[in-house]
Amino acid sequence: MSKTVICPGSFDPVTLGHLDIIKRAAKMFDHVIVAVLVNSAKSPCFSTEERMRFLEEVTGDIENVEISSFDGLLAEYCKQRGADAIVKGLRAVSDFEYEFQMAITNKKINPELETIFLMANADSMYLSSSMVREVAAMGGDITNFVPDCIRDEIVERMLTLRK
Ligand code: ADP
Repeated sequence: MSKTVICPGSFDPVTLGHLDIIKRAAKMFDHVIVAVLVNSAKSPCFSTEERMRFLEEVTGDIENVEISSFDGLLAEYCKQRGADAIVKGLRAVSDFEYEFQMAITNKKINPELETIFLMANADSMYLSSSMVREVAAMGGDITNFVPDCIRDEIVERMLTLRK
């Protein structure tokens, strides 16, 4: 039976940590839907379209990955897309409490929905989008944090926002 999973997140912007989780999910499941959270309350640095374009660029060579966006309840979006599970990366103990709470809440809303956690890679477990934004805004080198093809655009935006 074909398995579809959803990798949700803000991806503001996508990092090498996110990409590692997406690639590993793509090896394990038939169809991976990377879903960008459209959350107007959070006022992201990159628009939904930009975040999706970055994701398209860095996953372009992975056949079974689809980039999408959603607004509202993730459990509802999973139902709508016929997803079997949510796949999330787990970085540290600090991620655990929130993720555990979210996973249980989503299961209460949709009892069929499983949440699967992949342990972060040792090389990228310290990475977060907010750290990337901060380093770039201060003129630091983000080469080791994001895919090469989107690096310059991120740096340019963060330096502009800082002015
Ligand atoms: P961030 O915390 O970087 O803003 P998102 O909200 O976009 O991340 O997170 C989307 C998903 O990616 C979450 O499941 C999060 O735990 C996971 N994730 C984020 N950064 C990493 C990383 N460096 N390694 C593994 N998983 C990660």
